[in-house]
Amino acid sequence: MPFSTLGLSNALTEAIAGLNYTKPYPIQKEAIPVILKGKDMLGIARTGSGKTAGFVLPILEMFQHYKPEAKNRFIKVLVLVPSRELAVQVEEVFQSLASRLPRRVKTLAVYGGVSINPQMMKLHGIEILVATPGRLLDLVSSNAVKLSEVGTLVLDEADKMLNLGFKDEMDRIFALLPSRRQNLLFSATLSNDVIAIKELLLRKPEIIRIDEEDLDIDLIKQLAYYTDETRKGPLLRYLIKTAEMKQVLVFVSSVLRSDNVANKLNINGIKATTFHSGRSQGGRTEALAKFKSGEIRVLVATDLASRGLDIQFLPFVINYELPRSPKDYIHRIGRTGRAESPGMAISLISPEDIHHFKVIQKKMGRHVNILETSELDLKGY
Ligand code: AMP
Repeated sequence: MPFSTLGLSNALTEAIAGLNYTKPYPIQKEAIPVILKGKDMLGIARTGSGKTAGFVLPILEMFQHYKPEAKNRFIKVLVLVPSRELAVQVEEVFQSLASRLPRRVKTLAVYGGVSINPQMMKLHGIEILVATPGRLLDLVSSNAVKLSEVGTLVLDEADKMLNLGFKDEMDRIFALLPSRRQNLLFSATLSNDVIAIKELLLRKPEIIRIDEEDLDIDLIKQLAYYTDETRKGPLLRYLIKTAEMKQVLVFVSSVLRSDNVANKLNINGIKATTFHSGRSQGGRTEALAKFKSGEIRVLVATDLASRGLDIQFLPFVINYELPRSPKDYIHRIGRTGRAESPGMAISLISPEDIHHFKVIQKKMGRHVNILETSELDLKGY
C-alpha cells in the first residue's frame, strides 16, 4: 500500500519519496487518515515504530491548505516531548519534510539545559513548535510564545513525560490551550496516568495500538554468551574487536558501571563514551552526536537510552548486564534491527543471570542460544 492511498497530496508523497520511505509503517497506515480527518487519537506505539512521521506527515499536509499568517508568536501546532534528544529528532523529521514542500512551514525545537535567548530569537514566524514542558513554560511566561491559537496538540512519549515528573507542567500548559483543538497522544505504554490524560484531553478518540515489539524481534538476531562476572570486561572487548564492531550500544545497570566500562574500553584502545542520567543534557547530546557520526565506537548507556533514542541502522546492542524487566530487554534490543535493517543483540550472561534470562526469553516468546566462553582465551583483551 503506497503513501498516496492514505489521503496525502502529491506534494507530500513526493517529499516522502525524497526520504526514501517506500511504504508506510503500520502506525502510519492507521494514524495518517485519522489525523487528516481532524480526529483525536491515542497511539500506543514506541520510538522505532515510525510514529513521528505518523503525525508529522498529516500535520504538514494540513498546513499545505492553510494560508501563512503574519501573526507572530501564536503557534499553530504544539508537540510536547520529554527530552531534548527527542525534541531534536522530531524537529528534524518536520524539517526534512517541510523543506521539500511548496508551502514552507517554519518549525523549531526548544528545550531546557541550554540558554533561552537564542531560542527566543528563532521564534519569529514559527508555526510548529516542538518543546519540552519546562522550557515551553519559560517561553510562555516571557511572552515569547502564545498558546491560545494552538489547533493541534501532540503529546509524544506521554508515559515518559509523566515518569520524568512533568505532570504539573503539562497541566499548566493544557490550561493555556484553547478548548477547540485536535489532540494526538502517543505513548509506548498505557499506564494509569496516561489513561487519565486520555480521559482529560481526548474527545471520542480513535485508538491505535501497534504491537511493534513482536514485529521488531524477528528482525533481530539474538545471541548470548555465558561468562563469569570477572571475565565480562575482557569478553566485551574481545567481541568488539574480533567482530570488528564499528558502532555498539552497550547497556549496563548503573551510572557507575557505565563510567567503569567506558573507561576500560578507552584504556584498551576502543573509543567509548557514556550516556546516563549523571551527565548533563549537553554532555548527553554530544555523546550521542559523536556516536552517531562514528567518531566514537561504543556508547555505554543505562536504560535512559533504551527508549526514545533514534539511531538509524544501529548494528549491535550488547547487554553487559540484563535489565530487571523483560519489557526493558525488548526496548533495549529494539535499538537494533529497526527500519528494515537486521541487527544483532548480544547478552553477557553470568551464572546469577541464568534464571532471569529464562524468564525474559519466556516473556518474549523467543529462545536465545547461550554460547559457552570458558575455553576462550581472553588474554590481551
Ligand atoms: P520513529 O519511530 O518515528 O522514531 O521512526 C523510526 C525510524 O524509522 C526513523 O529512523 C525513521 O526515519 C524511519 N522510518 C519511519 N517511517 C518509515 C517508512 N515508512 N519507511 C522507512 N523508514 C521509516
